[in-house]
Amino acid sequence: MPEPMLELKGVSVQFGSFLALRKVSVSVAEGEIVVLLGANGAGKSTLFRAVSGLERPSEGTIHFDGQDISRLAAHRIVREGVAHAPEGKHLFTEASVRKNLLLGAYVRRKDPAGVQESMEEVFDLFPMLRAKAGDAAGTLSGGQQQMLSIGRALMARPRLLLLDEPSLGLAPLVVEEVFESILEINRRGTAVFLAEQNAHAALKVAQRGYVIESGSVALEGDRDTLVDNPEVRRAYIGV
Ligand code: ATP
Repeated sequence: MPEPMLELKGVSVQFGSFLALRKVSVSVAEGEIVVLLGANGAGKSTLFRAVSGLERPSEGTIHFDGQDISRLAAHRIVREGVAHAPEGKHLFTEASVRKNLLLGAYVRRKDPAGVQESMEEVFDLFPMLRAKAGDAAGTLSGGQQQMLSIGRALMARPRLLLLDEPSLGLAPLVVEEVFESILEINRRGTAVFLAEQNAHAALKVAQRGYVIESGSVALEGDRDTLVDNPEVRRAYIGV
């Protein structure tokens, strides 16, 4: 097992008296695709928000490349190499596709040549975004908006991409397309931490994963262990 790039140890996140995450320990190594499975409200988004610096753990540590990032400001965490495509996409719907992408490169604004290079890489990955670069983001289809949300996160040139429910609300064929692009992003060298309720799609691309229930890790293992687990099959694959 390689040294983890991202490592959460005993992380809890509390909202008032409610513990949304309870002593969660998970990791992602360089080059991996790891899935976080769990039902609505299990704590997946909270975990990603904690990694991104949008929630503060009440206990535990979050290390990226050996550095404790759990108290760093969100923009510093992006600069360290972690980008987040949140659930619900959070695009600027009135702004153009190009403008949305540029906003993803905000922390790199002093490197316009590098930003332009990243924009070309995103356009190579999603040619449809190149064709629609001048269109308002709100005019794109759901699948296209999901690709824009992923593309915007890639504009930060992350080494780790946090993808929160990229399949949500998409038709099966579009889900396949999105997951194909996740594989390609990973082939190009970016590790991916993926939160999903769609275990069927996620376990086709992930090497490893965790099941999170009521804020705790209930199960972890490699893809085959998860696919064969009766509870995973019943709860998340529907067989
Ligand atoms: P979903 O797929 O619905 O996003 P999830 O697994 O990502 O589910 P979270 O969004 O992390 O779940 O939510 C975990 C729990 O924490 C839920 O019960 C949610 O209501 C609660 N929660 C999340 N954010 C807050 C907040 N800011 N204040 C209070 N409770 C919150």
